Amino acid sequence: MEINIEIINFELREAIEERSNQKLINCYQCGKCSAGCPSVHLMDVSPHEIVRMLQLGLIDDVFKVNSPWYCTSCFTCVSRCPRAIDIAKIMEALRYYNLNAAVHLFDPNTLSDEVKDKIPQQALVSLWRKRT
Ligand code: SF4
Ligand code: SF4
Repeated sequence: MEINIEIINFELREAIEERSNQKLINCYQCGKCSAGCPSVHLMDVSPHEIVRMLQLGLIDDVFKVNSPWYCTSCFTCVSRCPRAIDIAKIMEALRYYNLNAAVHLFDPNTLSDEVKDKIPQQALVSLWRKRT
């Protein structure tokens, strides 16, 4: 599937639903997911807001935020959701389509030797796995 992130895209919204196997319309915006998320303070947009933006088809805006990259797939939101929505899977689908559209790609060559020496190896591997 070729992706043009410049347009609001209901087709891509459906693709995200399909890939994550979640029905976005089931979310009634109670906010319990965001209230329990341990990474929410790092995110541009909180998890329930991500779902709302997706409901509205604001795919290009969702692609600009850092939230999927700070999601650690801890499943706290999943366990708290009264509608059994798996936001971790939605975040994973967003990362997938982000990378597919070459947004937020990580180029290891951009890291200086100093950073490479200092950064924990596990963090580097994790970054590589998420963003290449
Ligand atoms: S907890 Fe579930 S229903 Fe409530 S806002 Fe989050 S995703 Fe939506
Ligand atoms: S799975 Fe992601 S979005 Fe959900 S609570 Fe954990 S870090 Fe937050």
